[in-house]
Amino acid sequence: MALELLEGLKEVFKTNGTIVVFPSSGSGAWEATMVNTLSPGDKVLMFETGQFATLWKDVAQTLGVAVEFVPGDWRHGADPDTVESILREDGAHEIKAVGVVHNETSTGVASRIAEVRQAMDRARHPALLMVDSISSLGSMEYRHDEWGIDVTVGGSQKGLMLPPGLSFNAISEKALAASRTARLTRSYWDWQAMLNANRNGFFPYTPATNLLYGLKESLQMLQEEGLENVWARHARHGEAARRAVRAWGLEVLCLEPAEYSASSTAVLTPTGTNADEFRKVVLENFNMSLGNGLGKVQGKVFRIGHLGDFNDLMLAGTLCGVEMGLAVAGVPHRTGGVAAALDYLTQAAQEARSSLMTAAR
Ligand code: PLP
Repeated sequence: MALELLEGLKEVFKTNGTIVVFPSSGSGAWEATMVNTLSPGDKVLMFETGQFATLWKDVAQTLGVAVEFVPGDWRHGADPDTVESILREDGAHEIKAVGVVHNETSTGVASRIAEVRQAMDRARHPALLMVDSISSLGSMEYRHDEWGIDVTVGGSQKGLMLPPGLSFNAISEKALAASRTARLTRSYWDWQAMLNANRNGFFPYTPATNLLYGLKESLQMLQEEGLENVWARHARHGEAARRAVRAWGLEVLCLEPAEYSASSTAVLTPTGTNADEFRKVVLENFNMSLGNGLGKVQGKVFRIGHLGDFNDLMLAGTLCGVEMGLAVAGVPHRTGGVAAALDYLTQAAQEARSSLMTAAR
C-alpha cells in the first residue's frame, strides 16, 4: 500500500520526482526541508506574507540558518521582482534557498510561485526553491515539476481532507543532491533513511498507518473528481465568497486579484469593530466557527475556509451564518452578500449544465 500511495501522491503534487511522508503535523515537513538541504549559517531568503511565513522563518532561525526576511504588509504575496533584485545582488551565491508560503492560510493571499521561479531563473541564481503548499495542495493549482520547485511542504489536514498527522516533502533531484552534502543535524527527518526504507514500501520508524488508510481514500476521491475539477471548484467558491464580501460592503484582506486564495478568504471588519467579538456571536448563535485573525491581523479579520471536501451548499450555509451574524453582532454592513454569491454559483451551475448538454449532442 505504501508504494501505491507514494505513486498516487505524485499526481497531487504534479511531480515525477520523489515524495516522502512523515508521521507529523505540517511544521515537521518545514523542518525537514531545512535540515536536509542546508548547513549551519547558510543564508535563506524568505518573505513575510503572513503568520505561517513568519513561523517557518522562526523554524529556520532556530535551526541555525541565517534568514533574510523581506518585510510585508500581510496583504500581498512574495514579490517576484524583489526576488530577482535580491538574487541579482547576491553575486557570491551566498543565498542557498528561497522559501515561500504558497497559500498564506492566515491572510488568504497566494504567492505567484511560477513567477517567483521565473524571477530566480532571470537572476541566474542557483538557490533552491522551497514552497509551503500546506493549504493549497489538493485545493488550488499547484505544479511541483512544471514550476521548478525543489522542495514542497504538504500536510494531511487541508486539501487532502484527512485529520492532522501526516506531512510531506516532494523533492527535486537538485534538492536530493544538496541533501548529500548538507550538514545541519538530522535524524527523524532524514530523507535518505526514509528513501532507503520506502524503496520496499517500508518506513524507518512506525508509520501513521491509520492515516495512510485515510490517504488511500482521499487520493481516490481526488482522482475520481479530477484534480483540475477540484481546483476549479475551489476557485468558484473563492470567487463566490469574495462577491459576498463586496456586497456586504466589507473588504477582502488580499489586495492583489492575481493573488486571491481559492481555499480561504480573510475579511477585514470595519474599523471600530472587533472581528473576534463578531466570531463569538456567530459561534454562539449559529454554532459556526469562523477562522480567527492570526498574529498581526488578530481581531481585525475573520476567515472563511472553503477548502477540502466542500460544496456549493456548504459555502451557501457558511455565508448565511456570516450575514446573519453581521446583523446580530451589529457590524455595519449591507445585506445581499448571500444573494450575490448564490447568483454567481447559480450562473456557474447553469454554464456547466449547458456545456455538458452541448458535449452530449
Ligand atoms: N503552513 C501553512 C500554510 C499552514 O496553514 C499551517 C497550518 O495551518 C502550517 C504551515 C503549519 O502546519 P501544522 O499546524 O500542521 O504544523
